[in-house]
Amino acid sequence: MDFSSFNFETSLQEGLDAMGFEKPTPIQEKAIPEILAGKDLIACAQTGTGKTAAFILPILNKINKSGSQNLNTLILAPTRELAIQIDQQIQGFAYFLGISSIPIYGGGDGVVWEQQKRALETGAEIVVATPGRLIALLAGGKIKLDSLEHLILDEADRMMDMGFSDDILTIVNYLPKQRQTVMFSATMPPKIRQFSMKLLNKPEEISI
Ligand code: AMP
Repeated sequence: MDFSSFNFETSLQEGLDAMGFEKPTPIQEKAIPEILAGKDLIACAQTGTGKTAAFILPILNKINKSGSQNLNTLILAPTRELAIQIDQQIQGFAYFLGISSIPIYGGGDGVVWEQQKRALETGAEIVVATPGRLIALLAGGKIKLDSLEHLILDEADRMMDMGFSDDILTIVNYLPKQRQTVMFSATMPPKIRQFSMKLLNKPEEISI
């Protein structure tokens, strides 16, 4: 199997070619068709398996196809490092697409905070955020999530271990009920499964 079987939009396929991606990894083969089809999804996959591209690629394809220019995708990640890494992969793939993303994370100095707020005023289709900082922005009315269509939770088990469960539930209260929700986790203990039931609607399940 190669990427052409997903029938991605031409400009996304060009981005893949430019990044040197030739064949999908096993998690990409399984997850991409489900996300393209609009299904909710729980995917069990570790770092290094290509899990990031497994959710970024179908989301970029959907945004490009719909032509939406609103903030329509929120990606939640446990740490600043992971949020930056996801944002950078999006920038790489989206080079030919005219879709932008903003990383939102805590720490750093006031300059970073101001940059994040300014970027939000300019607008983007995708926000990649750590939960705590996003809640601060929501509480201050600096970000609106009412046009959101896709919610992705990356490394959900790590977010729970870091104590972000309540923050995630608070964030979800700001989102439309009608949306696609995708959860990636390296492990799938019962507490993750229970938590997923609060967020996902009849999810497909995959693991590698
Ligand atoms: P991840 O598991 O998302 O952290 O990805 C691990 C590394 O594999 C990243 O550097 C990706 O850029 C790279 N990668 C992911 N999918 C592919 C692919 N289909 N072909 C080549 N490299 C890939």
